[in-house]
Amino acid sequence: MIFWWRMEVTEKIESIQKKCEGLRLEGKVLGFVPTMGFFHEGHLELMRVAKRHSDVAIISIFVNPTQFGPSEDFESYPRNIRGDLEKARQVGVDIAFLPSVEEMYPQGFQTKVSAGNVTKHLCGLARPTHFDGVTTVVAKLFNITKAHFAIFGQKDYQQLTVISRMVHDLNMDIRIVGVPTVREPDGLAMSSRNVYLNPEERKSALCLKKSLDLARDMVARGETSTAKVKRVLQELILSHPFTVIDYVSLCDPATLEDVETVKEEVLLALAVKVGKTRLIDNGLLNEASESDIS
Ligand code: AMP
Repeated sequence: MIFWWRMEVTEKIESIQKKCEGLRLEGKVLGFVPTMGFFHEGHLELMRVAKRHSDVAIISIFVNPTQFGPSEDFESYPRNIRGDLEKARQVGVDIAFLPSVEEMYPQGFQTKVSAGNVTKHLCGLARPTHFDGVTTVVAKLFNITKAHFAIFGQKDYQQLTVISRMVHDLNMDIRIVGVPTVREPDGLAMSSRNVYLNPEERKSALCLKKSLDLARDMVARGETSTAKVKRVLQELILSHPFTVIDYVSLCDPATLEDVETVKEEVLLALAVKVGKTRLIDNGLLNEASESDIS
């Protein structure tokens, strides 16, 4: 372990596992935030929540190759380790785990964790291997950090659902906590990938939040046909330059399966390519505000 001011930083599994085991034996509560780095306020909010509810707040920074498809942006994914460590330290994170790819996937590695149906919808359609990469690395990170609870953003709603499924189905002894999406002042959901957007694309990217607002408005005014809502949103999105729709889905927030009518809770989930950048957003439609999502 090395120290970044008062934050402990390690790249080694054995060292963090020993450290965390010792902390658990001392009776400390461990909170964990897994990330791929290039921190923005969304990441920092997760860390603040971890800090508030734990004795020891742990983060990981690992751009996980197995969750990227062959034509995706693994190589070019934005990275800034020094900047990230400084931000994490300022928030009060106690331990940062920064493994290399070789440390996480040594020669001979061959086990996969796969969560089943919840991985097949939404992002799973265009990214068929993505969630197996996520569940496998997150299962490893849970075993490595031995945390009592782990925090995930609702911005990646399907990821949160998939992880919750895995933890429930495999009886993992860890609590999963979801934190509402943190947005830029104009409503764009914060994402490390937003740096890819040029100024014109950045304007178009607002179509995701506008879609959420419009859909909520339609439902509040009594619209129950999800096909109608979808049509209106598709038109709205495509009226913005540089946009290509991956999906607009009104689905059951637990199973992520499409629904035909807005009855009880319905989740609107969106994935839109703006130029070369794939953006996602989501929110419950029949709730007053997205901070109600849990
Ligand atoms: P990433 O580094 O993109 O893998 O994200 C790490 C964690 O931060 C995940 O649990 C994300 O859901 C969460 N996260 C990313 N963006 C936001 C955001 N705008 N608001 C809240 N959480 C976020």
